[in-house]
Amino acid sequence: MKLIRDASEIIAKTLGEQAVGQDEAVRLASWCVAVPAGDGGVLLLNNFTKELILIDDGDGLSGLHDLKETDSELFCYLSRHWFTVPVALDDKNLVDEVRSVVSCMNKPEGIVGYTILTTTDCNARCFYCYEQGLERVNMSRQTALDTAEFIKKTAGKKIKLHWFGGEPLFNSSVIDIITDELKKSGIEYHSTMTSNGYLVTDSVVKRAVESWNLKGVQITLDGTEEIYNRRKAYINPKGSAFQRVLDNIEKLLQAGISVSVRMNLDMDNADDLHKLCDLLADRFSSYEKFGAYAHYIFDGKTADSLYYTLDETYIELEKLRSYRRDKIYKCSFKVFYYPVPA
Ligand code: SF4
Repeated sequence: MKLIRDASEIIAKTLGEQAVGQDEAVRLASWCVAVPAGDGGVLLLNNFTKELILIDDGDGLSGLHDLKETDSELFCYLSRHWFTVPVALDDKNLVDEVRSVVSCMNKPEGIVGYTILTTTDCNARCFYCYEQGLERVNMSRQTALDTAEFIKKTAGKKIKLHWFGGEPLFNSSVIDIITDELKKSGIEYHSTMTSNGYLVTDSVVKRAVESWNLKGVQITLDGTEEIYNRRKAYINPKGSAFQRVLDNIEKLLQAGISVSVRMNLDMDNADDLHKLCDLLADRFSSYEKFGAYAHYIFDGKTADSLYYTLDETYIELEKLRSYRRDKIYKCSFKVFYYPVPA
């Protein structure tokens, strides 16, 4: 017998050597492929372990299917290396089990994603905000440094950071601190953000590209100008918040950052979201990295009453949402779902 190729190290380690009792009936495993090779020889591939051997001292293929000499060196080798298995073994089940163990072993070590609230404060006052009633607190410089330390200790090789709030840009200096620290320690990262989009400026875009490695932002629009401005109720807005956010979406897209517009849907704004789709299509459908989707407003107070609205309106809303989805398709921009693609 000649070894042509060794078994895969990780599979061999996981399986170990097979111990088959001398009196146990065995058969060729279903993952083996045998082809005649030369004068009575057989090339035998174990498709599970990837080991390949040449048997040149046997009775050819027929010998392999009639494995009787349980004390022969070849018989023992084939058993130990999983070419043969007990007759009653469930081959598929064993392969599934080993694959699942190997896939766990192959997972990158450490944490691969972090969601970071830079603040619980916000410059808007949406009636549905999940943070209503919570204390408005900004992450401090020290907490940002501690956060970076925690990431350094626990991170895998490549990580994704998601900036969340409140409005994460309301306290964007801590994003600089955390990403600067990660950069210094050589951790590979990219980030995404959930934002209302109002505080995006040229300087923010520059930092987002150069330091934050920001790949995508999800921005909520609840309707066209009048409805949006009323529902978001920004504190001290300068001019129309709606127009400002549209301009900011364009800034992000021009910098190559994906923008996914979430259209919060309830019974009051459903018709207006239809108009919003047209408006977004006119302005943004030429951008590859622009997308949108509609989603209900939900309260999240209880598991079975997920949505903000009453149960009886749920079916009606579901209809409106699919209608909106069709509309989005017709407007020829992508339907992105949360989280935005990197
Ligand atoms: S923009 Fe977001 S964080 Fe700010 S009030 Fe609205 S829902 Fe809350």
